[in-house]
Amino acid sequence: MNEQSAHRADVYVDLDAVRHNVEVLSAHARSSGARTMAVVKADGYGHGAVATARAALRSGADWLGVALISEALRLREHGVRAPVLCWLYRPEDEIAAAVRAEVDLSVSTVAQLREVARAAASAGVTARVHLKIDTGLHRNGASAEEWGRLVDEAAKAAADGVVEVFAVWSHLACADEPGHPSVEMQARRFREAYLRALEAGLRPLRHLANSAALLTRPDLHFDMVRPGIALYGLDPVPQAGPHDLRPAMTFRSTVVLTRRIAAGESVSYGHSWTAPEETTVALVPVGYADGVPRSLSGRMSVWLGGRRRPVVGTVCMDQLVVWCGDDPVREGEEVVLFGPGDRGEPTADEWARELGTIHYEIVTGMARPRVSRTV
Ligand code: PLP
Repeated sequence: MNEQSAHRADVYVDLDAVRHNVEVLSAHARSSGARTMAVVKADGYGHGAVATARAALRSGADWLGVALISEALRLREHGVRAPVLCWLYRPEDEIAAAVRAEVDLSVSTVAQLREVARAAASAGVTARVHLKIDTGLHRNGASAEEWGRLVDEAAKAAADGVVEVFAVWSHLACADEPGHPSVEMQARRFREAYLRALEAGLRPLRHLANSAALLTRPDLHFDMVRPGIALYGLDPVPQAGPHDLRPAMTFRSTVVLTRRIAAGESVSYGHSWTAPEETTVALVPVGYADGVPRSLSGRMSVWLGGRRRPVVGTVCMDQLVVWCGDDPVREGEEVVLFGPGDRGEPTADEWARELGTIHYEIVTGMARPRVSRTV
């Protein structure tokens, strides 16, 4: 028995849900003539990059998007041949390996363009690049002042055959707040940047929209959309929904021990909870080292035996305790910490609200050594 199975906590990923979501999202994209790039960075937002990439490609996605070169190369190592765009790398990263593996690279500066061109020339191949304009998020991307020089240099490099400029692209800061004025501002700057690329003689595609813009702004789909979170069934704009998305991740464990405790007995470190009456409590072998935030102590429940039951006392590193009253709870019974919510179990959305964060952080935070993944 390995440590993971001994520990008995896993993340179950429903690939049918991923397929359904990709079908819904790519149908939106197709209705405005756009392709779909499935964003599978951070190990597919914690859902497993290779499995979700394959599911997405079978269900309507044409492209894959990742942050790191290592993430792109991992897809290639697993035989994923679809086009992949990678947007976050450093000069010391394996740019040559990415180019040889036909991974498209985002380029934000002239210096980066030269590095990629050098790597392509030494590998004897043409590197495909997507020129990134900073329209207001102010992370990477060329500034408006740098953009003219970047597209002119890129046009030269393209004429020399070392690079192919496939697209211009950018990323939105506030698409999940429909009506936020920055979206219009970024869209205007994006259109201007595209026109400048045309003036330089380039004929690139355009992509801008993340999940939120894909769902709410068909006018910003351009030639390709880049959904991430929505692929996994989590809605970044529920206020503009419903959007027919199915959460794919279930975090689950099992009861390993039940016991009766007397009224007045307290539970777990710090004795923060005391049984008001004689009760059964169930021990679940999952704790903050497995991704159950300790700060949820006293304010979370789990799905066990067909209903929600409160977790009582402090969440420990490896275990937590569930209050079961007089109900017959058995050792070995499944415990759902969060799931799609269709049975009434807690959801990643609820965890996020309770913790004052976003569901992105919950699902990506489940990639932990002791939590195995089942697809
Ligand atoms: N495009 C880029 C450049 C990103 O960094 C991300 C994720 O943060 C996405 C697209 C997908 O965004 P979302 O998960 O909000 O759909």
